[in-house]
Amino acid sequence: MKNVATVNVDRGPIPWTERIYLGPIVRGLGVTLRHFLRNVFGKRDVATIEWPEVKRQYSERLRGRHILTTKDDGSLRCVACYMCETACPANCITIVAEEDPEAPVEWEKRPLLYEIDLLRCVFCGFCVDACPKEAIIMSRQHEMAFSERSEAVVGIEELRQKGPIEDEDLGYRPYF
Ligand code: SF4
Ligand code: SF4
Repeated sequence: MKNVATVNVDRGPIPWTERIYLGPIVRGLGVTLRHFLRNVFGKRDVATIEWPEVKRQYSERLRGRHILTTKDDGSLRCVACYMCETACPANCITIVAEEDPEAPVEWEKRPLLYEIDLLRCVFCGFCVDACPKEAIIMSRQHEMAFSERSEAVVGIEELRQKGPIEDEDLGYRPYF
């Protein structure tokens, strides 16, 4: 077995304030008090914001709550191809397809059911990347609170694009 040399370092006597942790506690409280007084009276270079009254402007690439985009006639762009469901690593998208009787092309599909479980979603954006129709994009809506698990499972009506796309708080989208 290899011999390991050890060196004793004499740090001198430890003061009693250090021994009972009084010194570090007082110094820590001093830092807290300094920040508290600066936040109350100074307001300079304060990193926090007064949410929810003040909202931070996030990047247009933020991955927030999803939007199912619509065509000019208001119908969903989604053709129920299951690409997003397949790409989803959290397995939180559920799609049931049906034939679209109004489609100009025979056998074109549309989603009869499209659900995302937002509590399982990891907001990775893979569904957005996988979609060949730009039918699912992400918004900057990140304030989500649910009192029951079932409320976190959102369907077509909750996800559908509301109004002109410019009015949405747009987040991560393909080719953007
Ligand atoms: S953002 Fe990621 S985890 Fe969430 S639904 Fe899309 S692919 Fe699934
Ligand atoms: S959202 Fe896009 S990828 Fe998902 S099923 Fe619809 S068309 Fe396919």
